[in-house]
Amino acid sequence: MNTIKDHLNEVRENIRKACEKSGRSPEEVTLIAVSKTKPLFMLEEAYEAGARDFGENKVQEILEKCPRMPEDARFHMIGHLQRNKVKQVLPHAVLIHSVDSLRLAEQIDQEAEKLGITAKILLEVNVAKEESKFGMMPEEVPEMVEQISAFSHLQIEGLMTIAPFVDDPEKNRPVFRKLYQLSVDIKKKNIDNVNMSVLSMGMTGDYQVAVEEGATMIRVGTGIFGAR
Ligand SMILES: *Cc1c(COP(=O)(O)O)cnc(C)c1O
Repeated sequence: MNTIKDHLNEVRENIRKACEKSGRSPEEVTLIAVSKTKPLFMLEEAYEAGARDFGENKVQEILEKCPRMPEDARFHMIGHLQRNKVKQVLPHAVLIHSVDSLRLAEQIDQEAEKLGITAKILLEVNVAKEESKFGMMPEEVPEMVEQISAFSHLQIEGLMTIAPFVDDPEKNRPVFRKLYQLSVDIKKKNIDNVNMSVLSMGMTGDYQVAVEEGATMIRVGTGIFGAR
């Protein structure tokens, strides 16, 4: 049976190939091991194999796992975040990928101020406009960036999307391309507190295509830890 380490190495090799194909450097791509629903020993196994970035979609799981992992393990909040959970998660999350409203951004700003920190966030974009998904519409993003950039305890690091579930990853190439283009358009505006250096896109089924299209963070769960 393949171990978590084998899976990690396979994903890393695929990232390397996708980078080679698209003339990028593998150092530009951070692999986030999506450990949601998985027990701590599996995270520890991934850590032993070199994983440092972990993705969780529930605040409760981050609160449970983060204090039990080595200090240099980083936890990313990738799931929908309720405003009343912001205060709890903020001290533990290195990056919140799922900011999808002005109200949520405002809440994060307020709690960050109380903690005396600058919270790093991504704006979640529903590129394919799927009704079942969270995230802002692509055409809303420039205006939202302007508004959210006014909050002084927030730093917008870039954009995130969850692409549709498809049988053929090539079908998501236009989705990834569109998010990339959106980030380029926003970067050109040179807004204070806005960085656009992160593009969080690509999951187990389509991360190679996402890397080819400019992803700087990919979020892989099943491909590392097995089915949930
Ligand atoms: C679960 C999840 C992933 C990982 O999905 P896999 O298909 O298991 O790789 C990535 N991103 C988000 C936001 C998720 O909720």
